[in-house]
Amino acid sequence: MEQRTVVRCAEGHLFSTATFPMQNLGAGRLGPGRLIRCPRCGRLRSSVPADVGELSGVQLARALESAAAEFPV
Ligand SMILES: [Zn+2]
Repeated sequence: MEQRTVVRCAEGHLFSTATFPMQNLGAGRLGPGRLIRCPRCGRLRSSVPADVGELSGVQLARALESAAAEFPV
């Protein structure tokens, strides 16, 4: 099963991505965010992992339904 990360873009949109390298990086190594194409903005945005503990079930479900387009590294 695919592991997805819920992230929040700089504009505050919640969406999910499979490409966020959360476990692979040391803290702060690349800064707090990563450029991901937000499906709501349609642009590359500096995005950070959302604190899923602070999201409601509805917010979480909507974020998981709204997947970022994967792009080649
Ligand atoms: Zn956005």
